[in-house]
Amino acid sequence: MSFWQQLKISHRYAQLPASFYTKIQPDPLTQCRWGSWNSSLARSLGLPETPDDTLLHAFSGVDIPPQLNPIAMKYAGHQFGVYNPDLGDGRGLLLGEITDQQGRCFDMHIKGSGRTPYSRMGDGRAVLRSTIREYLCSEAMHALGGPTTRALGFMTSDSPVFRESAETGAMLIRLAETHIRFGHFEHFFYTGQLGELRLLADKVIEWYFPQVSAHDNAYLGMFEKITFLTAEMIAFWQAYGFAHGVMNTDNMSVLGQTFDYGPFGFLDGYDPHFICNHSDYQGRYAFDMQPGIGLWNLTALAQALTPLVEKPALEQVLDNYESLLNQAYSRLIRRRFGLYGQQDGDSELCHDILGLMAAEKVDYTLFFRQLSLLDNASADEVTGLFSDHLVVTSWLEQYQRRCDKNVDETGTAVPAVSRCEQMRQVNPKFILRNYLAQQVIDAAEQGDFSPLHQLASVLREPFDEHPEYEHYALAPPEWGKGMVLTCSS
Ligand code: AMP
Ligand code: MG
Repeated sequence: MSFWQQLKISHRYAQLPASFYTKIQPDPLTQCRWGSWNSSLARSLGLPETPDDTLLHAFSGVDIPPQLNPIAMKYAGHQFGVYNPDLGDGRGLLLGEITDQQGRCFDMHIKGSGRTPYSRMGDGRAVLRSTIREYLCSEAMHALGGPTTRALGFMTSDSPVFRESAETGAMLIRLAETHIRFGHFEHFFYTGQLGELRLLADKVIEWYFPQVSAHDNAYLGMFEKITFLTAEMIAFWQAYGFAHGVMNTDNMSVLGQTFDYGPFGFLDGYDPHFICNHSDYQGRYAFDMQPGIGLWNLTALAQALTPLVEKPALEQVLDNYESLLNQAYSRLIRRRFGLYGQQDGDSELCHDILGLMAAEKVDYTLFFRQLSLLDNASADEVTGLFSDHLVVTSWLEQYQRRCDKNVDETGTAVPAVSRCEQMRQVNPKFILRNYLAQQVIDAAEQGDFSPLHQLASVLREPFDEHPEYEHYALAPPEWGKGMVLTCSS
C-alpha cells in the first residue's frame, strides 16, 4: 500500500458543481527537484519527513497519484479598487484536502503549475525568487503567531521563466485551511449565479463555521466571523510591522489568514506610510492604509452577500470592524510593550514613542526586542537606537513608572524579570527582512540552498537566541533599507 492510500485525503471542493472550477492537469517543469521541504509540517500530516521521488513526481505533476485531483478554482475580485471578473487560479491548482493528526483539514495547492483557463496573458508559472519569498514568509508568519497559509515545500527546475529577464521556474506547495477568497463570492454575485452564491455560503458555513448554522441568519453569522477574523489578521500585521502589498479582494481568505505573499515587506525602520509594492503608485496598500483597506474589502464582500442578507444587518457588522481591530491591536501592542491591564495614559505612552520612532525611522523590531531586555541590558541599548537621547530617556522614565504599576490577574505586582521574559516570547529577535530574503535568493539562484535552510530554521524560532546567526538580527545595511518589490512573480 502506498503512503498516499494511508493518508486521509478528500476532495470536497471538487464535488461542487462544474461552475466552481475547471479540472486540469499540471504542466511539469524541466528537471524538477526539491528546493526545500518542511519536515515538521510534513510529519504533522503523516507525510515522510524526507521527501523522495514519489512525492516529487506527485507534487510536480509528473506522476499524480489517483488520490489527488487537480482543479483550478474560479474567482473574481477587486484589484486596486477595480472589479476584474476574469480572475481564477491562473497558475495554481488545488490538489485536494488532507486531514492532519489533530483532525484539521488543509487544502493542498501547487503554485506555478502551468496555464489554466484563468491564466489570461500569464504563463502560469512562478519564479524561484517569489516562491522562496512565500515559502519563508508564510513560515515566519506562522512562527510569529500570525494567522497565515503554510508552505509544505517547494521545487526548483531548469525551466526558464521570463519576467524582466530569464529566471528559474519553481513550484510552491501551499497548505491552507481554505483557498476560498472574498473574490469567490464576488464572482457568483456579479455573474448573477445566485444559486451558486448560496451554495458557496452554505459550504463555507458547513466546512469552516459550523457554529453559526444555529444562528437565526447563518449567512450573517458567517459574515460576522469573516469580519472578526479579518480584523484580527490586520491587527496582527499592524502590531508586527507587516505590509502585505497587494490587498486585492482575490487575495483575502475568508478565514482571515495572510494569503498570497507577493511584494510584502516587514518594516525595518518604523515608517507608517511604507509602501512595499513598487507598482502601488498611489500608496493604496501602504502600511497604515491596511486597516481601512480591510474595511473596504469587507464592504465589497458584503455587497456580494446582499442577495443572502439584508443590507442594514451587513452594515451593522461593518460598523463593528474598527472596534474589533482596535481591540485586537491594543491587546497585541500592549503585550509587546509589556503593559499589563489597561491604565490611563497607556495609549499616549505607546503613541509618543511610535511618533518618535516614525520621525527617526527607528528599527521597529530591534526597538521592541531591546525593550524586552531591560531586565538585563542597560537602557542605553534602547536610547542608542534614537538620535534624540534626551526625549527617549524621559520616555523610558515614564515607561518604567508605568511598568512598576503592572499587576497580574491575582493583583500581584509583576517584577521586571517576569515582564521581560514574557516580552521576549512576543517580541521576535528575528524577522524576515527583505534584504535577508534577497541574500538567500541570490545564493539559491546559484544553486546553493544552504543559506535558505539556515534562515528558515532561525525564522521558525524567532523569539529564541541563535548565537551562531546573530547577523540575521541586525538592521539592514544601507543597500537593503526599505526595499520595495515589484508585483512580477
Ligand atoms: P496575484 O497578483 O498574484 O494575486 O494574481 C492575480 C491573478 O493573476 C490571479 O488570478 C493569478 O492566478 C493570476 N496570475 C498571476 N501570475 C500569473 C501568471 N504568471 N500566469 C497566469 N496567471 C497569473
Ligand atoms: Mg492572488
